[in-house]
Amino acid sequence: MGLNIAGVCPACQAGGVTFRWTRCFNRRAVTRCGKCGKALESRLSLVAYLLMIFYLQVWAIVGAIALFITVAGGAWLLACAILAAFYLTVVLPAKWLHSLDVRPYSPLAV
Ligand SMILES: [Zn+2]
Repeated sequence: MGLNIAGVCPACQAGGVTFRWTRCFNRRAVTRCGKCGKALESRLSLVAYLLMIFYLQVWAIVGAIALFITVAGGAWLLACAILAAFYLTVVLPAKWLHSLDVRPYSPLAV
């Protein structure tokens, strides 16, 4: 049993619906079901979205400073560790948040 951060397609009930990490920092993420090909979307509530953005901003500022110091000091292994920590503590939770509420894509919805 692994860490499950994938959603379920509402049309064909297939699991493994994930959103690209570059889209996970938007309030609304769009993807396609790997099995039936239907367009799917996920919309975060305003509170969840604002909290995620605030968390991302704090992390980005602190992480950027730490990354600059490590790169300037030539500690490449530590710099990689910071990037890995960013992925584990920011990107994966963002993907998970979006996977909680997968629904059919509706272009007219705001
Ligand atoms: Zn599907």
